[in-house]
Amino acid sequence: MLSNLATRDVETLIHPYTNLSTFRETGPLVLERGHGVWVYDSDGRPYLEGMAGLWCTALGYSNEELVEAASEQMSRLPFTHLFSGRSHDPAIELAETLKELMPIPTSKIFFTSSGSEANDTQVKLTWYLNNALGRPAKKKIISRIKGYHGVTVASASMTGLPANHADWDLPLPGFLHVGCPHHYRFAEAGETEEAFSQRLADELEALILREGPDTVAAFVAEPVMGAGGAIAPPSGYFEKIQAVLDRYDVRFIADEVICGFGRLGTWFGSEALGMRPDSLSFAKAVTSGYMPLGGVSIDEPLYKALVSQSAKLGTFGHGTTYSGHPVACAVALKTIEIYKRDRIVEGVAEKAPHFQARLSALAEHPIVGEARGIGLIGGLEIVADKNSKRQYDPKAGVAARCVAFAQAEGLIVRFLAGDRIAVCPPLVISPDEIDTLFDRLICALDRTEAWIASEGLT
Ligand code: PMP
Repeated sequence: MLSNLATRDVETLIHPYTNLSTFRETGPLVLERGHGVWVYDSDGRPYLEGMAGLWCTALGYSNEELVEAASEQMSRLPFTHLFSGRSHDPAIELAETLKELMPIPTSKIFFTSSGSEANDTQVKLTWYLNNALGRPAKKKIISRIKGYHGVTVASASMTGLPANHADWDLPLPGFLHVGCPHHYRFAEAGETEEAFSQRLADELEALILREGPDTVAAFVAEPVMGAGGAIAPPSGYFEKIQAVLDRYDVRFIADEVICGFGRLGTWFGSEALGMRPDSLSFAKAVTSGYMPLGGVSIDEPLYKALVSQSAKLGTFGHGTTYSGHPVACAVALKTIEIYKRDRIVEGVAEKAPHFQARLSALAEHPIVGEARGIGLIGGLEIVADKNSKRQYDPKAGVAARCVAFAQAEGLIVRFLAGDRIAVCPPLVISPDEIDTLFDRLICALDRTEAWIASEGLT
């Protein structure tokens, strides 16, 4: 029986990434407030937010300093834009701050309101750059199966998940996908991580050669795959990929929408994994999720191309009303100030071994095939047979069931395709709260194991 609020929801809202058919029966989890790493539903029940919202609320909930930063900017100048050369101090200061933080040579910053827009911007800038450089055929974009880059037409084309392509008439032509770097699931029997990485780099090279290097513009990758399964790459992966990209003058775009701002114990995931991208997309934790903001870094050659195109075309024809929204920029500035002042990124590096030890111990659980991660992100996979790695029929929805049991235990985690479960708590989680998180997850796994037996699933 749905509550009044839940019934009103079902009658009025379309929910992103929700089974809109079963949702009519289950209804929503309506959250009302949050504090620290905890959120509370409309009945006052607490949940440990083991997903930091959607991989974003790095500083946890009800951070008064962020509230004040937003409120101060709201009162002073709630809106102005960056079109036609107009500007405002939070955008200028934030761009300066980000330029200094970027792990790659950065000339300028372009702001968006989301990760999808940031990645769409990356595609458009890549095309624009190659037009400016007089190589109009070099336009194809390569990404990875299970990569996640957003839902707008170009970013969804880069995304490598069936739900984003089937019946959406995507990907667009010119968007290609190479294999997923998930050693546990896709390595051949006995294949080492290094050998698997080499095979994937060879596959990328073969694709570039088949398509023609003169037609391939960019390769995009998340440091750790998020929505595709919380998948950390095998050793040597990015080093080998990078060598291929360098050989064929293919731009490397790092999608740091999840890994940026400390998730892996470094400011950016690229630093943790030895990536040398030409450009980088960010969003989410730049404001700790308190305001919608994203953006891309622009390197000097790209900036020069934008200027020369503007000279020819009269204007840089890209940007949205909310590119560099002043309240979002003010909140981002305060967020980054707190990250620095409270040594949040260093704190992640200190807490990560405990988090990862608790995570990898889950691999001993009878229904868990793999439990692996890096920093404060982890993924685990439920299997029917640990030896063969065989999975349950996807229709049984085993991981979804486990996530529902976790919710009943007062823990929010997320199920992903392929019976995977992601864990990605706020960066401010304490060691004790990490223990609470994993204790509750074990209870959820135990309940799932019992449910599997009672349903007779094999
Ligand atoms: N890239 C990555 C790596 C993401 O995880 C996401 C969102 N989960 C996006 C892009 C898209 O961001 P948004 O939902 O803000 O459009």
